[in-house]
Amino acid sequence: MTPAEAGRLLAHCAAFDNRQPSRAASEGWSAALRDVPFDEDALAAVARYYGTPPRDPGQRLWIQPHDVRTLRKTIRSERLENFSYDGDPDESPQQYLTHRRHQLAAVASGRQPSPSARPALTGPPHPQLARFLEGVGHTVENGSAAEQVAAVRRPGPLGRDCPTCSARTGRPCRTPGGKPRAAHRHRVDAALGHPAPDAGTTEREMERRRDASRRYLENTHAQDAA
Ligand SMILES: [Zn+2]
Repeated sequence: MTPAEAGRLLAHCAAFDNRQPSRAASEGWSAALRDVPFDEDALAAVARYYGTPPRDPGQRLWIQPHDVRTLRKTIRSERLENFSYDGDPDESPQQYLTHRRHQLAAVASGRQPSPSARPALTGPPHPQLARFLEGVGHTVENGSAAEQVAAVRRPGPLGRDCPTCSARTGRPCRTPGGKPRAAHRHRVDAALGHPAPDAGTTEREMERRRDASRRYLENTHAQDAA
């Protein structure tokens, strides 16, 4: 910033600390902050400095050029938290570098909101997940198919495929919507050694259910009418 701009910044500081403006101070601050522009963030740095209580409660706050530099940098880098470049997948490396630099500058200055409000995932996966991922893509080679089935076979309905929903051995039964549910009756029956129902039994069972739901509906309508 120029000496004139440094003078305006010092006048802003004076609003907080009653310092006396002087040409020497303006020139000194301009020299110390030559590469720092006089902008909203420089003014915000002063406001943040005086808005933060001193570490020692008795200490009188008196801002220095290096405070403006540091706090302005903090304010700008806070805007870049979670920044993720929003670019064109087809751009060249040169375009990528240029666009990314412009986007960083626009977001850091607050002219443009960060393209990503979502926190970016950083770091390796959780150790538990990493151990699991180690196994992905490896062929399981121990034992024949029959032995592997025997390994997951267990007593009870899960020890066999479900005749109703075709859930595989060891897997839970599912509703038509795909949600896990208690084992289907025929699967339980099979596990208990009961004979599989013939077509006639199934037909009678369907009829019984249609009857039950019809009665239920009639009952509900009657209650609504009452
Ligand atoms: Zn089932």
